[in-house]
Amino acid sequence: MARIGVIGLGNMGLPMALNLVRAGHEVWGHDRAAAAMQALTDGGGHAATSVAEAVQAAATVLTMLPAGAHVRAVLMEAWPHAAPDTLFIDSSTIDVQTARDGAAEAVRHGCVMLDAPVSGGAGGAAAGTLTFMVGGDPAVFERARPILAAMGRNIVLAGGPGAGQAAKVCNNLILAITMLGVSEAFALADKLGLSAQAMFDISSTSSGQCWALTSYCPVPGPVPASPANREYQAGFATDLMLKDVSLAVDAIASTGAASVLGTAARDAYARLSALGLGGKDFSVAAQALLEGRIGR
Ligand code: NAD
Repeated sequence: MARIGVIGLGNMGLPMALNLVRAGHEVWGHDRAAAAMQALTDGGGHAATSVAEAVQAAATVLTMLPAGAHVRAVLMEAWPHAAPDTLFIDSSTIDVQTARDGAAEAVRHGCVMLDAPVSGGAGGAAAGTLTFMVGGDPAVFERARPILAAMGRNIVLAGGPGAGQAAKVCNNLILAITMLGVSEAFALADKLGLSAQAMFDISSTSSGQCWALTSYCPVPGPVPASPANREYQAGFATDLMLKDVSLAVDAIASTGAASVLGTAARDAYARLSALGLGGKDFSVAAQALLEGRIGR
């Protein structure tokens, strides 16, 4: 089995690294936080004291970092230590340009790189059921597939370099907007004297049906597993949604794509964050709308 370097052992990277260990790989993990590396060694991996140590002698390097700036910094550190033809896979959610630049830099250093952001959250990372949206060369994608399969269930090649990040940003733009739409409808239903359950029973089988309503209902009651039933404990935190919808708004600006709702959605999540709700699940938008804390 291959030697794999994993850089970024946070909520997502650590369980992903542990799944690679379980699949029989020799995993060398690096994180700024010593506790994260201890958790990896407790699970059968190895602690790398630097990016260089995680990268050297690795056939594959997986990065799972907070944002584009972290990915750029780690890659700069990594290139001089990477063996020829090392496969880099970045699963962080970052901007498309950074992903494209990373792929081009990889080639310049005799390596290959895929962008492979994920959907499925920390639960999916632990269960090994993530969806990977991949951008890059088809032959490199086939080389990466068995490694990704140790961490995820749905593995999709979206197109060339950056296409995985493009898919991620567009998908989360839909989610950001639909969650606010569903939340606004529940707030209006309340004012009109319609119960949340009646509203759910009708809309979940009508044209208002969508994932934010039927799988992740943002008000307590109708969907027992949704964060609304546990005081909006994340789940998918408001601050992470704010990051993703901000990436979408930046991409709208840089491409000149037409937009009606992107900026409004970004501003709503920024307001939730400013209200101190950044660590709560993003579906807390429904409660904030009901209480008149966001919106007009
Ligand atoms: P996290 O903050 O829990 O983990 C990031 C880790 O990177 C931290 O442990 C941090 O110490 C480490 N790190 C930062 N800079 C570093 C450096 N220079 N060298 C070594 N380690 C460094 O974040 P997360 O929740 O694991 O998310 C990681 C990425 O996955 C993000 O881009 C996020 O948007 C994306 N994502 C998260 C989720 C989710 O539900 N948490 C879902 C899908 C995608």
